[in-house]
Amino acid sequence: MTPTSPTKLRVAIVGGGPAGIYAADILTKADVDVSVDILERLPAPFGLVRYGVAPDHPRIKEIVKALQRVLAKPDVRLLGNVEYGVDVKLEDLRAYYDAVVIATGARADRDLGIPGEEHSHGAADFVSWYDAHPDVPQSWPLDAPSVAVVGVGNVALDVARVLAKTADEMLTTDIPAHVYEGLRAKTTTDVHVFARRGPAYAKFSPMELRELNHSPKVEVIVHPEGFDVDDHGMEHIGRHKAQKMVLDTLANWVGRDPVGKPHRIHLHFAEAPTEILGGAGGATTLRTERTRPVGDGTVEGTGQVTNWDVQAVYRAVGYRSTALPGLPFDDRAAVVPNDGGRVLDLDGDPVAGTYVTGWIKRGPVGLIGHTKSDAAETIGNLLADAAAAGPTAVLREPGDVDAYFAERHVDVATFDHWERLDQHEVALGVAEGRERVKVGDRAGMLRAGRVS
Ligand SMILES: Cc1cc2nc3c(=O)[nH]c(=O)nc-3n(C[C@H](O)[C@H](O)[C@H](O)COP(=O)(O)OP(=O)(O)OC[C@H]3O[C@@H](n4cnc5c(N)ncnc54)[C@H](O)[C@@H]3O)c2cc1C
Repeated sequence: MTPTSPTKLRVAIVGGGPAGIYAADILTKADVDVSVDILERLPAPFGLVRYGVAPDHPRIKEIVKALQRVLAKPDVRLLGNVEYGVDVKLEDLRAYYDAVVIATGARADRDLGIPGEEHSHGAADFVSWYDAHPDVPQSWPLDAPSVAVVGVGNVALDVARVLAKTADEMLTTDIPAHVYEGLRAKTTTDVHVFARRGPAYAKFSPMELRELNHSPKVEVIVHPEGFDVDDHGMEHIGRHKAQKMVLDTLANWVGRDPVGKPHRIHLHFAEAPTEILGGAGGATTLRTERTRPVGDGTVEGTGQVTNWDVQAVYRAVGYRSTALPGLPFDDRAAVVPNDGGRVLDLDGDPVAGTYVTGWIKRGPVGLIGHTKSDAAETIGNLLADAAAAGPTAVLREPGDVDAYFAERHVDVATFDHWERLDQHEVALGVAEGRERVKVGDRAGMLRAGRVS
């Protein structure tokens, strides 16, 4: 084997979601001789595109095709089933790579900060279940006739839609048998979505909102109480075109006559959750307080309290990144502190050769496309630093990295492995007249990817 050129830039990217893969793409397109290893804790790449985007959004999941082309590039290697902080530390990576880019995203749920929170489910956990994430239990309790979802973003809509739709409506997607059976056992008829503020501030995407209305089994009811827009709200929608479109759609729906579909999604505005009541069996009541605008976009309580009789409460108020071993972490903002992607230590000085991109860099907001521009900034700074510092890694051969993992008995799932798993999932789909059926357990994923 020809030895790697001593000047070839060696980069490790930790996290094989869109942010990490776009970073690899930008590196390979730059005017430098580079080789990139993407270390991913799961046996499959693509992060939240595979394990966050809802199964009934196949068009968005198509992005994996473009991401897969990056992974197939000769200067890019996928090292899946490798967990940073468990299988490898930052100091280890330093020995093999001139630069390390952390792109580990966000997986935890933010809290509501109200009493009784322990009786609620985090949206991220539910999303991981219906998207067949291999590290979550395969069963999920869906025996609540009435459910509350707190939040007014697209994740709240995803959760509400999956809770309201029938299992058979979801059967055209890539959900595996355990998710289908779980959804089939569902007894939910009413999903109540709660927003603290008025409709002018709803953060839904216009298309996601309109899509709610497309199910033949699900009716959307926008409740007129609290459906008010003050002067600040009018100014706000004047500045935010998408939110104006959302408001127009909601205004068309508010107060319309029900048509009698078997499942309902209720949208409630100006209702702030204040407490979740429950016991060992989970939630029994969500208590909310009606709010009114104070004129600057925020709201205050009116003292008018409502107890909603629900048997499950989901928090969909945002994701949260978690700290990584060996790296500074800003717990308030839940990001790795950085300046344009250069990781900063506790004194605010750059940590040499260490970068972040994606949700761990700027927090869990924004769509897949945003991770591309994000990666461009980080990689721009990385390349400038690398040009100035020159090579720093002492063990520069890809084989050195392979030997490291082999010595530690890490069962690395490479790109070839992913291609075999991918083909296996497509074949499972063909057998059922679907495009794909996901394998939802780690052992099964690893087995399917091995050469038989
Ligand atoms: C429920 C949900 C639905 C969404 N739907 C849409 C949508 O429809 N359209 C859209 O454009 N955007 C959508 N988004 C947003 C989109 O998913 C994000 O913008 C994007 O995935 C963020 O990319 P990322 O690479 O930073 O993080 P992630 O996608 O989270 O990728 C991070 C990767 O790092 C890996 N990782 C984590 N820790 C480690 C470790 N210690 N070692 C190794 N690897 C590790 C993870 O396994 C993961 O693969 C959605 C997000 C959510 C939460």
